[in-house]
Amino acid sequence: MKIDIQKLVRKNILNLKPYSSARQEFEGENGIFLDANENPFGELNRYPDPYQRKIKQKLSVINQIPFKNIFLGNGSDEVIDLTFRIFCEPGKDKVLTFSPTYGMYEVSANINNVELINLDLNEDFQIDPETLKPYLSDENLKIIFICSPNNPTGNSTKNIKYILENFNGIIFIDEAYIDFSPEESFRNKIKNYPNLIVSQTFSKAWGMASARVGIAYASEEIIKFYNKTKPPYNISQLNQNSILDALNEENIKLVSENIKMILNERKMLIQNLAQLRLVKKIFPSDANFILIEVENADQIYQRLVDKNVIVRNRNSVIKNCLRITVGSPEENKKLEETLQNIDN
Ligand SMILES: *Cc1c(COP(=O)(O)O)cnc(C)c1O
Repeated sequence: MKIDIQKLVRKNILNLKPYSSARQEFEGENGIFLDANENPFGELNRYPDPYQRKIKQKLSVINQIPFKNIFLGNGSDEVIDLTFRIFCEPGKDKVLTFSPTYGMYEVSANINNVELINLDLNEDFQIDPETLKPYLSDENLKIIFICSPNNPTGNSTKNIKYILENFNGIIFIDEAYIDFSPEESFRNKIKNYPNLIVSQTFSKAWGMASARVGIAYASEEIIKFYNKTKPPYNISQLNQNSILDALNEENIKLVSENIKMILNERKMLIQNLAQLRLVKKIFPSDANFILIEVENADQIYQRLVDKNVIVRNRNSVIKNCLRITVGSPEENKKLEETLQNIDN
């Protein structure tokens, strides 16, 4: 299957002459910099590296993926929005999601005035290829968003291979929770599929949500469009520095120990919640949260809030379901005790 990425890109983006910043024209580190109207005084006086090269170099080594296949965004949210802006003609093109899923795809679609086709996942929260099939040949369908492990359901998504083999548009796999999952990342598959984008983030397993750094792995061609379309200095130097500091061997070990601890806590949380009468169902999770079905989600949510325990009420999305992030041992204990009291 030969896919022409350029044909998927909006005409105005294809023809766009990107902003050329001072720091792009001269890339050396030494010199007297009088090119960017910066202030010579102060600590944060210089513009940051527009391409975040040091971070990408490290990520490239750690994940064994070429530098040219990596893009960094101001959180995955920016990556998602840019993907709309590159590929979707407002008022004409469409994207497809499987619901229930992460809310940002729909918000981004609305902001960009792009029609969203929403197909229901089946009762195991899996994609049904037969339902999807008729949509795959729609010329105006530009992007399919797949979240795996899926938020808010927690499960990994099967049948992704089917979509990769049968769709000629952009396939965006959101792997924000992949480090908590036993499943392998699709990022190594970008070699085989020029239309595949795999997004990851420093916000969850890395514990750096406040640094706002998301990653996209994709073909060199797609990465070029991201670079062309993004704001020139999309990640601040402060945020770049904190990510750079985190990308060392010692911290990577710490991160993987924290992941193990969270997975162990998840296991215990599931065991303990299963004892409660008010918990009707606990859905399987490959992420750092669990989805539970309770008797009356609105009421239980409110009673938890009254005790200063905040979970995510997903009743409006999946009837009587709460999404609970796996916290520290103390936090989980507090949640369990509070629910026990409500149960009695
Ligand atoms: C939390 C989350 C993200 C992370 O978004 P950032 O902007 O990188 O913080 C991305 N996708 C999903 C599905 C998430 O749940």
